[in-house]
Amino acid sequence: MPFSSLGLSPALLRAVGLRGYLVPTPIQAATIPAVLQGRDVLGSAQTGSGKTAAFVLPLLQQLQQGPHEKPRKVRGLVLVPTRELAAQVGEEIRVLSQHLPHAPKVAVVFGGVSINPQMMNLRGGADIVVATPGRLLDLADNNAVRLSGVSALVLDEADRLFDLGFAEELGRILALLPAQRQNLFFSATFPPAVQALAQTLLREPVRIEVVSEPEQAPDIVQRAIAVDASRRTQLLRHLIAQNGWRRVLVFVATKHAAEIVADKLRKVRIYAEPFHGELSQGKRTQVLADFKASRLKVVVATDVAARGIDIAQLPVVVNYDLPRSAVDYIHRIGRTGRAGESGLALSFVSADTRAHWRLIEKRQQLKLALEQVAGFEPQQAVTTGEDASPPSTGGIKGKRPSKKDKLRAAASREA
Ligand code: AMP
Repeated sequence: MPFSSLGLSPALLRAVGLRGYLVPTPIQAATIPAVLQGRDVLGSAQTGSGKTAAFVLPLLQQLQQGPHEKPRKVRGLVLVPTRELAAQVGEEIRVLSQHLPHAPKVAVVFGGVSINPQMMNLRGGADIVVATPGRLLDLADNNAVRLSGVSALVLDEADRLFDLGFAEELGRILALLPAQRQNLFFSATFPPAVQALAQTLLREPVRIEVVSEPEQAPDIVQRAIAVDASRRTQLLRHLIAQNGWRRVLVFVATKHAAEIVADKLRKVRIYAEPFHGELSQGKRTQVLADFKASRLKVVVATDVAARGIDIAQLPVVVNYDLPRSAVDYIHRIGRTGRAGESGLALSFVSADTRAHWRLIEKRQQLKLALEQVAGFEPQQAVTTGEDASPPSTGGIKGKRPSKKDKLRAAASREA
């Protein structure tokens, strides 16, 4: 099915062509006509499915058709869990709208950076706001943004919004929106809290599910390697050298571990950088740019920071530390094999994380042979009587779990 059969305007079809998209992905083919008909949408969409353009394109079309008032009123609101995803959605809107006759003004707002430039940017209004919930509320509290004219709300990666503890903020934002509006709801997974929100929010939604169809599933090979915890960095170095990997995203459990592993790799001249929530936004942007431009070979990331990283041609993802939950596992491996490319997701499993790995496998309905690499055969025996608790976060001894840690743990129990 070509893009031209979806009901998009000639200007948007041109934009799609300039963006290099030849045919719609399945979620785009299903979502775009439904949104153009004014329907609410409940999309079960994995990362890499093309869901961003699936909601951005019809949203842009509706804005083109609507009144062009000054000052501008926020008509489209996109809520996302992380600043990286906010930046990516903002960029997709910018690129797809740059040649339109009435290019909308897009404001991308997220926490962790000064609020003042965002307030300045919102002077004179904006047509579309892409936001993380906390910062949006701060801006609303400061009267920097009015949401009473929103006609379309998009919740992107709704499960992640809950994982990150944004439920309360979401409730407050929904109270600021007009009751009459279109709602587009996207999530990779549907734990009970997400289902409940979808039910209250959506009116007779068109349900769109593309992930479960095998031919649409990203081509990701999953493997697990048994290795002693203390030898994981050496094994990683070995695998990078042996396989000639040029770009590897490595997941670890803590910021501390991200720093340490990246440091160890740099010491042996493997260009690596940590990527975590305590880095400044500028530094994160730099690391991503260097990674995309192949100036960096390895990025060692924590889950929260890596959420939303979208890098085409990321052939390998390594779980150096196992994810805390099956949900995180899906998100992690979804970083590779995007948009039809193939990918490899490798998990290091050591004696103390064996039980936790079994749990992830069970939830994922996976059964992988635990491989061994010559020279790295595990020496440590699996202790008996282990529970399947998430792996220790290590590194920062005595640190109490943060609110987000607790929320993540709760989410992983639910998953
Ligand atoms: P998303 O799932 O929205 O994060 O998109 C994943 C990747 O697929 C991004 O790099 C998009 O630029 C790309 N993409 C989205 N739609 C298409 C399409 N129709 N054809 C090719 N690539 C696409």
